[in-house]
Amino acid sequence: MDYVQAVGLLEKYGVKVISGSIARDKREAKKAAAKMGFPVVLKVVSKEISHKSDKGCVRVGITSEKTLEHAFDEIIHNAGSAKVDGVLVQKMARKGVELIVGGKRDAQFGPLVIFGLGGVFVEVLRDVSIRICPITEQDADEMIREIKTYPLLTGVRGTLPSDVTAIRKLLMQVSKLMVKEEKVKELDLNPVIVHEKGYDVVDVRIVE
Ligand code: ADP
Ligand code: MG
Repeated sequence: MDYVQAVGLLEKYGVKVISGSIARDKREAKKAAAKMGFPVVLKVVSKEISHKSDKGCVRVGITSEKTLEHAFDEIIHNAGSAKVDGVLVQKMARKGVELIVGGKRDAQFGPLVIFGLGGVFVEVLRDVSIRICPITEQDADEMIREIKTYPLLTGVRGTLPSDVTAIRKLLMQVSKLMVKEEKVKELDLNPVIVHEKGYDVVDVRIVE
């Protein structure tokens, strides 16, 4: 499923992805950025590139037309021989804690919902919680609290506590989607950037 379809499907379940617009050339990208306002993020849209930042195909914190033009060229260059469908111009998310929220369809257990903190916590420590769908609000709450890195969401070293209520709701929405949309094999919201009031979903991938 492409980016636009994934955003549409998530929206149907009340999950809003950060605003963005796919540009086919630099002129369209500049127009989109002007409309949503700087700072923006540029990233490649290509079925052939799944780890965009590993390839140098994500640029965050773009604050002017001039840096946007430069970033656009760099992304296209770094995409190399991959077929590029466009460049996504996204609003820059507020600072926060990066989470992953996912779904999987298991041959034995059926739809699953997955939660964890983003980055090294998931990749190295495998610090995630998993439940079989559908989940209750209490399940969602337990999923959030049982990961080892949960203290990072309660506000440490002067940072504000994250909006756990909003994340709980998001987990339930994803669970509902996984139950109803049988065609969805895998779903990845990675990252969801949570702050003290709400969150921004900045990267989505849905596999049918
Ligand atoms: P990929 O996972 O394919 O490398 P992402 O879209 O997840 O690409 O972007 C990589 C990283 O860039 C994210 O983990 C996040 O830290 C940052 N990022 C991406 N989009 C945004 C955004 N709109 N606002 C702020 N940071 C972003
Ligand atoms: Mg990502």
